[in-house]
Amino acid sequence: MTAVERLATTLEGRGELRRDEVLSRHTTFGVGGPADLFLTVRDAEQLGFATNAAHDAGVDVFVLGSGSNILVADAGIRGLVIDNRARKETPREGGTTFVVESGTSFAAFARKMCRQGLEGLTWAVGIPGTLGGAVVYNAGAYGGCLGDVLTRVRLQEHGDGDEWVDASDLGLVYRGSVFTRGQFEGKTVLEAEVRLVPGDAKELLERAASYDTRRLSAQPRGRNAGSMFKNPPENPAWKLIDAVGLRGAQRGDAAVSDKHCNFFVNYGNARAADVAWLVEEAQRRVREQFGIELQREVAFVGDW
Ligand SMILES: Cc1cc2nc3c(=O)[nH]c(=O)nc-3n(C[C@H](O)[C@H](O)[C@H](O)COP(=O)(O)OP(=O)(O)OC[C@H]3O[C@@H](n4cnc5c(N)ncnc54)[C@H](O)[C@@H]3O)c2cc1C
Repeated sequence: MTAVERLATTLEGRGELRRDEVLSRHTTFGVGGPADLFLTVRDAEQLGFATNAAHDAGVDVFVLGSGSNILVADAGIRGLVIDNRARKETPREGGTTFVVESGTSFAAFARKMCRQGLEGLTWAVGIPGTLGGAVVYNAGAYGGCLGDVLTRVRLQEHGDGDEWVDASDLGLVYRGSVFTRGQFEGKTVLEAEVRLVPGDAKELLERAASYDTRRLSAQPRGRNAGSMFKNPPENPAWKLIDAVGLRGAQRGDAAVSDKHCNFFVNYGNARAADVAWLVEEAQRRVREQFGIELQREVAFVGDW
C-alpha cells in the first residue's frame, strides 16, 4: 500500500474524500490538473486533523482556499489537497470582535460586517478568496488591508498542536507575510480574529457599492486570478506590461487582458504552461526594457 493510499484510509469519514479530482474546477483561473487526494473539510478541527494525518503519513499537503491567487500546474498537485470550507463565525466582546474559521468567504464576511454597521473591512467586499488566503497575502485594496483589523490567528503546526499567534508576529506587508516568505511552512491557519469598530451601516454599504462599481469598470470579466504581479515601487505593473507591447497578447486560450494588462485571463481551455509562458515573456520584456524585475503575486503551485 502506498503512503497516499494509507492516508486515504485514515481520512475516510473525516470529510468528503475524492481521488484524482481535477483542480481547474476549484480555481478562479479554471486551470490545473488533478490532485491525488482531495478532501473537503467543513470545520477547523477536521482541517487540523487532516494536515496532521498527512504529516504522519509522510504525504505532501496543500491547503486550498478559493483558489483565487494560484496557478496550478497542468500535471496537478501530488499528495493531499484540502478544500477548506470551515466557515464558523463567533462574535466576541459585545459583537465587534469575531473569531472566524479560515474557510469563510472573505468578501461575504466583509459585506455582512457592513450590513451589521461594523467598520474596518468595507474595502474587502470585492476580494474573492477565503479568510485563510487573505491572512497569507495580507489581502488589501483601496488603501485598506487585513493587517489593519487582524488581531491574532490560530495556527496548526503540521504533525503537532495548535496555538494562537499575534498578528504582529506574522510579518504582514504589501501582499505578503511569513507564509509567503516560507518562514511558516508547514503551518495552517485554522481561525483568525478580527476587531472592527461601530459605524453607520447605510454609509458603509454605500461605500461598498462604490468599490463594486470601481472594480467592475477596471477589471476584466471571465476566469483569472486577479493581479498577476505585485506593483513595483517605480510604476504599476499594468503600465509596464502595456509599454512592452503585451496588451491582449494570447497563447492558446491564455491571454493578457486587453482591459487590464496585469490580469491574465483564461478564454476557455487555457493550459497552465501557456499562462506561465506569457508571465515569463512579460518578465523578460520588462527586465530588458526597464531593468525592473516583476515579482509574481499569483503563486505557481503543484507539479511543474
Ligand atoms: C478577480 C480577482 C480580484 C482580486 N482582487 C484582489 C484585491 O483587490 N486585493 C488582494 O489582496 N487580492 C486580490 N485578489 C487575489 C486573491 O483573491 C487573494 O489573494 C485571496 O486572499 C486569496 O485567497 P484564497 O482563499 O483564494 O487562496 P488560494 O488561492 O486558495 O491559496 C493561496 C495560498 O494561500 C495558502 N492558503 C490558503 N488558505 C490557507 C490556510 N487556511 N492556511 C495556510 N495557507 C493557506 C494556499 O496554500 C496558497 O499557497 C483577487 C483575485 C481575483 C481572482
